[in-house]
Amino acid sequence: MVKAIIGANWGDEGKGKITDMFAGEADIVIRFQGGANAGHTIINHYGKFALHQLPSGVFYEQTTNIVGNGVALNIPALLKEINSIVSAGVPMPKILVSERAQIVMPYHILFDQYEEERLSNRSFGSTKSGIAPHYSDKYAKIGFQVSELYDDAALKERLENVLEIKNITLKHLYKKPELTVEEIFTQIVEWREGLRPYVADTLSFVQKALASGKRILLEGQLGALKDPDFGIYPFTTSSSTLAGFGCIGAGIPPYEITEIVAVTKAYSSSVGAGAFVSEIFDEEADTLRKRGGDAGEYGATTGRPRRMGWFDTVASRYGCRLQGATEAVLTAIDVLGYLDEIPICVGYEIDGEVTREFPSTTLLNRAKPVLIKMPGWKCDLRGIKEFDKLPEEARNYVLFIEKELGVPIRMVSNGPLREEIIFR
Ligand code: GDP
Repeated sequence: MVKAIIGANWGDEGKGKITDMFAGEADIVIRFQGGANAGHTIINHYGKFALHQLPSGVFYEQTTNIVGNGVALNIPALLKEINSIVSAGVPMPKILVSERAQIVMPYHILFDQYEEERLSNRSFGSTKSGIAPHYSDKYAKIGFQVSELYDDAALKERLENVLEIKNITLKHLYKKPELTVEEIFTQIVEWREGLRPYVADTLSFVQKALASGKRILLEGQLGALKDPDFGIYPFTTSSSTLAGFGCIGAGIPPYEITEIVAVTKAYSSSVGAGAFVSEIFDEEADTLRKRGGDAGEYGATTGRPRRMGWFDTVASRYGCRLQGATEAVLTAIDVLGYLDEIPICVGYEIDGEVTREFPSTTLLNRAKPVLIKMPGWKCDLRGIKEFDKLPEEARNYVLFIEKELGVPIRMVSNGPLREEIIFR
């Protein structure tokens, strides 16, 4: 049985907390895309953690955590992350890294930085963690899989070939120092020893687990609107953020993914550039950002203040559909308790016409939000355990969103802690 926990929006929906909750019942948790460029925040009895590459099952001793082949593997960051949780008192988790995962090379990070410098104020707001150069190389077939790191002769030969290309760009486009095979090789030799204990044929592991009825959780990074095909391209990420990609990035047959839990937040936030129709600004945004302080409205990896906006039914319905959501979770509803009225974006006005369908980028850039207002509940919702105990206004807010999404909201999260959740 495979359940996917993925984002319906731009990321930062609170997937970390929800994955952490479900991870307790899972035998295996798998990261299937993305890299060290974004993070989940998890608060539990060990403390508060921002996980970037480690699957959220690392806090449970019985769970095997897999870094799947679809992940952009940053080896030093992964090793540092393992170290940081263990030194915070978490028992050493079971971790497997796919031998087919491709690694973020030292020059991927450099190229990311140099490209942002080159673009200057036209930049995409990259996190500069090498993700775009990494996936470009993967599909250009000049990337390196984990298994290749342990064959010196073949590795050197491929490095020679790849660096020939890289050095032309470094020298002529970026006017930066060229790289040598020796320096990259030496770096990899250092990294690969630390990684060795975790490297495994995760595909066979997962297939055996499926055959013996194990429960698997796929953990998505970012959200549907950052998907390179269906999101706000080119302001997307570079690997697919959709549950369907779990089949590729983890090696799972499509029909095995039977539960798809789309996480969506009671308001919107986004990091990086690109269209964000329901965005709010200035004081209105600052207030929401501060109220969402517990919801970490500063990027878990980058610390950048997030862009804020009202709940967007057009984008979220689209996100749920893209994900193939079988159910939804609405998070951070506690954050909205200060508002007399809560705006919700229910349509996009484009060239004088209102649509409920999420458009492609060119039209999207011209879209203006059509807002309605719902009565606020003006109280603190934290501590409430049952849906019926929520104030009527809060119930109506959830029910309205549920109707707009067309997907049952099975959980409402009313605080960052694991137990702050209302099941329906
Ligand atoms: P992810 O990338 O989707 O995992 O989201 P992040 O972990 O980056 O951001 C979610 C933030 O919201 C974290 O700081 C969580 O502790 C917090 N959070 C999750 N659910 C809730 C909630 O229901 N209420 C509040 N106030 N914070 C929440």
